[in-house]
Amino acid sequence: MYDAIIVGARCAGSPTAMLLARKGYKVLLLDRGTFPSDMPFSNHYVHQTGSARLKRWGLLDKLAATGCPPITTNHWNYGAFTLTGSPPPADGDVTEAYAPRRKALDPVLVAGAVADGVELREGFSVQEVLFENDTVVGIRGRQKNGANVTERARITIGADGMFSLVARSVKAPEYSSKPPLEGSWYSYWSGVKMKGWHLWLRPRRVIFAYNTNDNLALIGVAFAAKDLPRVRINMEHHHQQVIDEIAPDLAADMKKGRRESRFVGGAIPGYVRKPYGPGWALVGDAGYQKDPCTASGITDAFTSAELLAEAIDEGFSGRQPLEEALAAYEQRRNQSELPYYEMTSQLATLEPPPPETKQLLAALAENPEQRSRFFGVVAHTVPVTEFFAPENVRQIMARAQQQAVATAVS
Ligand SMILES: Cc1cc2nc3c(=O)[nH]c(=O)nc-3n(C[C@H](O)[C@H](O)[C@H](O)COP(=O)(O)OP(=O)(O)OC[C@H]3O[C@@H](n4cnc5c(N)ncnc54)[C@H](O)[C@@H]3O)c2cc1C
Repeated sequence: MYDAIIVGARCAGSPTAMLLARKGYKVLLLDRGTFPSDMPFSNHYVHQTGSARLKRWGLLDKLAATGCPPITTNHWNYGAFTLTGSPPPADGDVTEAYAPRRKALDPVLVAGAVADGVELREGFSVQEVLFENDTVVGIRGRQKNGANVTERARITIGADGMFSLVARSVKAPEYSSKPPLEGSWYSYWSGVKMKGWHLWLRPRRVIFAYNTNDNLALIGVAFAAKDLPRVRINMEHHHQQVIDEIAPDLAADMKKGRRESRFVGGAIPGYVRKPYGPGWALVGDAGYQKDPCTASGITDAFTSAELLAEAIDEGFSGRQPLEEALAAYEQRRNQSELPYYEMTSQLATLEPPPPETKQLLAALAENPEQRSRFFGVVAHTVPVTEFFAPENVRQIMARAQQQAVATAVS
């Protein structure tokens, strides 16, 4: 009998397991995959907030040791101007984001959990969630050697991603669901060096690029989901056409470099799920998934892992009834994440921004301090609601007006 069984051992599952083990709990961590292994379909930008979590857990140096270069500067090109700068640091001093390949990041997380005493079973496919009187009591699954096994725990945690078997089995209520809003296709390139997190943002199309492990750059193109059938006809041609048109300098660099992987891509829906119930909890994409345009699923998985581990400890230690502690987990997740989710969903439409947003972005080009805070919104170091508060926006616009008057007079 375990305290916790966790299904899924990547960005949500391994940190949750590790944090629970550090609090003295007996944890079984299961994944049908084996490590190291890549994800078939995911980019991998980790914001400064995510790096700060890794640092707190003692894993950031291990990630850096994989050879993944740190990223400290954003270059977001809107056509008429480019916003360049860095978000405010996370946890006071973490200025680096990273974009590690999942085959580099996930093994660091898994090893961290195992080092703290978590029992890991790879190649273990969970096939059924077990109930007793509507309470989840464990799982049944198939081990690597083909044996069918039953394991029981006080809590069973679904960290099993967007197709979560645990979420489906417990019929986790879903709210704020969104259809796929944009699609993206990407591949890895050698001989192309990026200077930071690059975006070229245009109506209905966005190019994204950054450096990752193995001296490679990830280069991708996103487009409105409704264009998917047209784009799919010749993905490679569409990719190159958009880059040639919008980012000719990048296109020139790519001609000197070499594509090292096939194109991968698609489109995903958004949802928020109730993340707990009798004997079960959800973390990471199993509980909350948003469009990848803000590149935040991994960072959010880390944050949720901390919140969930704290809540379970509150409950198991008897400091608070478990159900209350898990309800607080949902509330804390939603408080910080729902505004971010709505912002992400709005950005993911790739519709041209309304005139007032265009004016705000243009004003940021001349306002380094607020530009940094704007980047901080996406990096989770500045709350969405704080930056977009009417008073803050009014101050930014007023300063832009003063600057325009000063320029006209001089
Ligand atoms: C196109 C795209 C681009 C993205 N770009 C970014 C980005 O740049 N930055 C970012 O932060 N996020 C990005 N994301 C999101 C990110 O990939 C996810 O948020 C993140 O992987 C969620 O981690 P997780 O641990 O919750 O789930 P996953 O990483 O999906 O891991 C789930 C694990 O559960 C295991 N599992 C599932 N079912 C079972 C079962 N029945 N039995 C045993 N094991 C099981 C799987 O094998 C897997 O290892 C992107 C996503 C997409 C689709």
